[in-house]
Amino acid sequence: TAALEIKDLRKVYDNGPEALKGISLTVEQGDFFAMLGPNGAGKSTTLGIVSSLVNKTSGSVRIFGYDIDAELSSAKRQLGVVPQEFNFNQFEKVLDIVVTQAGFYGIPSHQARPRAERYLKALGLWEKRDEQARMLSGGMKRRLMIARALIHEPRLLILDEPTAGVDIELRRSMWEFLQKINAEGVTIILTTHYLEEAEALCRNIAIIDQGRILENTTKRALLQKL
Ligand code: ADP
Ligand code: ADP
Repeated sequence: TAALEIKDLRKVYDNGPEALKGISLTVEQGDFFAMLGPNGAGKSTTLGIVSSLVNKTSGSVRIFGYDIDAELSSAKRQLGVVPQEFNFNQFEKVLDIVVTQAGFYGIPSHQARPRAERYLKALGLWEKRDEQARMLSGGMKRRLMIARALIHEPRLLILDEPTAGVDIELRRSMWEFLQKINAEGVTIILTTHYLEEAEALCRNIAIIDQGRILENTTKRALLQKL
């Protein structure tokens, strides 16, 4: 089974544009995959549908074989999502945000706490565990969302523009972290409009523009063309 299989995905927003005009792509298990494209291309819409935050107009999505329509709860269990917007309670404490998330998956707190500690340490947030999230810098909030997305140990992690607005030094340390968890077996898909980011991290790349896939290829083949 593929980690993600998208077939002929279409999306027309109410009173809005036809954002996706038939996207098909497959991401194999273990891959580090980038969706690259300009603003407005349809990257967030695609990931929004995969993470069931956005309704699709038509098409199908399978996550490790689980159809997001017919088998949503199984599909969701495989998946960790880091959206673009900060969508946690700013007044909740850092550690609590991560442990609370575990509860949504039925993970008891005696299991969740050591996991949360491991991820918060790996992401340089352990010293901040008792601070309210609103006290964190933008880059720290982004890393908090990564820790939260990993707490149920998903097999697929998707990140929408994970390093937007993050300075170059922190960006590199986030890249290293993502490469490490990919090496531990987590399939990763991210969107970016930085070619440099796709180049540094990914094995396979889809280029999306105006709701269509222009290219879906290996990084190596793509770089030879440019
Ligand atoms: P990005 O391209 O980086 O995803 P956008 O500026 O396109 O950022 O979108 C920012 C937010 O605004 C997203 O949550 C998106 O869903 C929403 N949005 C974008 N375009 C529209 C639109 N035409 N009408 C309503 N909401 C929109
Ligand atoms: P990207 O992530 O590649 O920047 P998006 O998926 O955010 O692209 O946007 C694709 C298209 O859909 C854009 O034209 C955007 O303005 C539009 N769009 C995104 N979100 C919404 C929304 N909530 N309502 C209406 N239009 C939207």
